[in-house]
Amino acid sequence: MRRVTNVLAAAALLAFLAAPPASAAPLPTRIVQASGRIVPIPAAIPHEEGDMVDRRIVPDLRWIAARFPIYVTDGYSGPLPNGRRAGCRGCHVRHSDHYNGLAVDIVPLRWSDRCDRSWRGITRLARWAEPRPNRPRPPFRWVGYKGDAGHGCGDHLHLSWEHAAAPQFQLAEWVEVFPVRGGEIAAQDPGAGPGGGAQPESTPQSQGGAQPEAGAAEGPQGGISTARSGGVSPRGD
Ligand SMILES: [Zn+2]
Repeated sequence: MRRVTNVLAAAALLAFLAAPPASAAPLPTRIVQASGRIVPIPAAIPHEEGDMVDRRIVPDLRWIAARFPIYVTDGYSGPLPNGRRAGCRGCHVRHSDHYNGLAVDIVPLRWSDRCDRSWRGITRLARWAEPRPNRPRPPFRWVGYKGDAGHGCGDHLHLSWEHAAAPQFQLAEWVEVFPVRGGEIAAQDPGAGPGGGAQPESTPQSQGGAQPEAGAAEGPQGGISTARSGGVSPRGD
């Protein structure tokens, strides 16, 4: 039994050592519309208890967690329909992607507050998501790490996904992701892609999840579908 456990542990370690291609080539991406909802992060993705995200980025997070030794310290930050709150209050900038459930803060699974070898896998992930400085690879909108105040090795990595502009504490009309099928990054669907890959899922308006009313008092006004590009701020931390 013990031996089996060791074999499994070795396999898991090998999975982390087998780096994904380090190329800066574009990732296949896909626009996911509708069916957004703020959900608990699944157990397969190591995370701080209670952390939640928009479910449309969960497959990408699963893929990342299977290949990089991540521990998510914060996802969605804001009110929930049940009157409770999720995430870290006062941790993020105004218009942060955390207020839409489309950003995560990440530290190593074996955390250290110093920039030591335990951060290697996180640095590798940061480079994978942003091969060139300040040029995040789509679907990533903003990558906070080296050179970004309050981020980096020994602090944390921030990843945001590209999405339609949305007031805080509301679900974005669409989210750009890299498609994952069978645990692997799937090639782009024929005819799919930004603007064309949306599946006719459910209703055009998002349901459940963050309660629109909850943020109305303090959130910016402006509807849910004002832009098809850009996101909501130069940064998303
Ligand atoms: Zn962040």
